[in-house]
Amino acid sequence: MSILNKPFNTSYNTAPFSEIKNEDFLPAFKTAIKKAKAEIDAIVKNSEAPSFENTIEALDYSGEELDRLSSIFFNLNSAETNDAIQKTAQEVSPLLSEFSNDITLNEDLFKRVKAIYDSKTGLELTTEQETLLDKKYKSFSRNGANLADNKKDKLREIDKELSQLKLKFGEHILAETNKFEMFLTNEADLSGLPDGAKEAAKQLAESKGKDGWLITLDYPSYIPFMTYADNRELRKKLSKAFGSKGFKGDDLDNQDIVLKIANLRNERAKLLGYKTHAHFVLEERMAETPNNVQNFLNELLEKAKPAAKNEFKNLEDFAKEIDDIDQLQKWDSGYYSEKLKQKLFSLDDEQLKPYFKLENVINGAFTVAQKLFGLQFEEIDTVDKYHEDVLTYKVIDDSGDLVSIFYADFFPRAGKRNGAWMTSFKPQMIKDGLNHRPHISIVCNFTKPTPTKPSLLTFNEVTTLFHEFGHALHGMLANTTYPSLSGTNVYWDFVELPSQILENWCYEEETLKLFATHYKTGEVIPMDLIEKIKASSTFHEGMQTLRQLSFGMLDMAWHGNESPQDIKSVKDFETKAFAGTNLYPEVKESCMSTAFAHIFQGGYSSGYYSYKWAEVLDADAFEYFKEEGIFNKTVANKFKTFVLSQGGTENPMELYKRFRGQEPKPEALLRRAGLVK
Ligand SMILES: [Zn+2]
Repeated sequence: MSILNKPFNTSYNTAPFSEIKNEDFLPAFKTAIKKAKAEIDAIVKNSEAPSFENTIEALDYSGEELDRLSSIFFNLNSAETNDAIQKTAQEVSPLLSEFSNDITLNEDLFKRVKAIYDSKTGLELTTEQETLLDKKYKSFSRNGANLADNKKDKLREIDKELSQLKLKFGEHILAETNKFEMFLTNEADLSGLPDGAKEAAKQLAESKGKDGWLITLDYPSYIPFMTYADNRELRKKLSKAFGSKGFKGDDLDNQDIVLKIANLRNERAKLLGYKTHAHFVLEERMAETPNNVQNFLNELLEKAKPAAKNEFKNLEDFAKEIDDIDQLQKWDSGYYSEKLKQKLFSLDDEQLKPYFKLENVINGAFTVAQKLFGLQFEEIDTVDKYHEDVLTYKVIDDSGDLVSIFYADFFPRAGKRNGAWMTSFKPQMIKDGLNHRPHISIVCNFTKPTPTKPSLLTFNEVTTLFHEFGHALHGMLANTTYPSLSGTNVYWDFVELPSQILENWCYEEETLKLFATHYKTGEVIPMDLIEKIKASSTFHEGMQTLRQLSFGMLDMAWHGNESPQDIKSVKDFETKAFAGTNLYPEVKESCMSTAFAHIFQGGYSSGYYSYKWAEVLDADAFEYFKEEGIFNKTVANKFKTFVLSQGGTENPMELYKRFRGQEPKPEALLRRAGLVK
């Protein structure tokens, strides 16, 4: 039997990376799935009457080996993958979805779960247990377990069709993106672009065997061109190509797909007894109802609109002044915003980077965690790493007790995907009276040090590190009984609170003085730079807010609609949804919905509002810290006790109120963003 199917004989039970071979994974998965199935069977076949312990709790503790294996495998597939791992992932994924379907479609198992759920009032459960029961029950009922057989079949049919349509939607967008190429042969057409962007465009052309420069609709090519290119006609051409993806009436058109998805989601929700898809989704969100989301978006819109209009007017004046532009268009926004920002702040990354040496920033994050929560990070070399770049720490609290093992993996390499994320190798839980501490990891892609220069971070990378570290604290400080409710296993619109709130410390003089020192001279970052960072962070906040709100409103328009079958034109429907948030003239060739992958392909349907929702939470929570002092122990302790350690054991609104003493209010965000005084 593979080492992956046995108890780990390592310090702190950490993953034995050095002993794992790629070919171990597939057989280990098969064995672990078999064991997990046997555990489920034992629950179903238990001759005793169903009880919370022998069914709900047993279900939550089951499959521990499979979970451990999945964490290790999928973390590696993201951070240190290779052909063999990718091939295994393709083989393993269907096995895992089959296994999870076997559970949600297991009627005998559901009978036991339902029996407990129906008699829950007499059970004297703790709040955490009640939450767990509710969650387990809903994992069946929201998949149709309560439906008659013919309706169950209908649901499966809808699910199958939806997954095919989502796939098609994504394929069309990808094909549209790959199809468009803007070859430029006159260097003057690239005027304004930074050298790096020009070079990339040249290389792109070369890779296609052509002379000159190639601009595409991929973000690394598209964004610099829209931000810096002086040629307005080319910006217009590129912008229209970007905006018309899936909206040309050809074989890559997504209009029918959008209508079909909206209708099928609505039908699915109705089948399960919900008014709309949004009602279905929001049942498991802090926001709870479409009405709450609408009110939230409307309130922010009302407050942000005057500022947005003002910013737009200033931008218009600026464009008129420097280039005699009479009517600002969508393809002008990035370009003139960047120029105005440079004029107002003249703040560039190179100026700031010497103050943000990676080692200093890491120590800064650790110091913040120490001052707030009494955590101490000690680097250790006794646990296995999956790559030599990975740093490993033991985290202990004030009394010297182990809190967590912490992995940090900062530099890009071939086998790592882009971006930054937090993850875990082992969940926290209390089992058989023992509090099992978690193994948490953050993965980033920061600039690597060279023999002559250390890794120096941009300010954006500094906030990214704090963001992921905030998620990590949520994982590390977890203190719940059941693994599925532990740490970051919370509602979607609550999960970004711990991460986003931590970013706030990066803007505070008191924090920056702790770690932002020049890597050569040791000089602390000058105050006027801090002021500039702060001021520029809210630049065009009104317009940005309006843009985010417009996406949230479009999402709610599609998914909160009770009769999507009446929608005939995607473009007309969208134009109506955007009516209150538009600043720029309408572009008739463009359509957002036909390329809105977040909501039609990914998992954000009825969830786009959560970006702003989380900002309101973090601004409101941080204001509490500001009122009492950003390192105030009492507030920090409340945050740890009522938010960070509680995971998803209770409705997040209740947790938040216990921390804050009241519900979150948008005013703090508006103040921080400079939208109200
Ligand atoms: Zn995050």
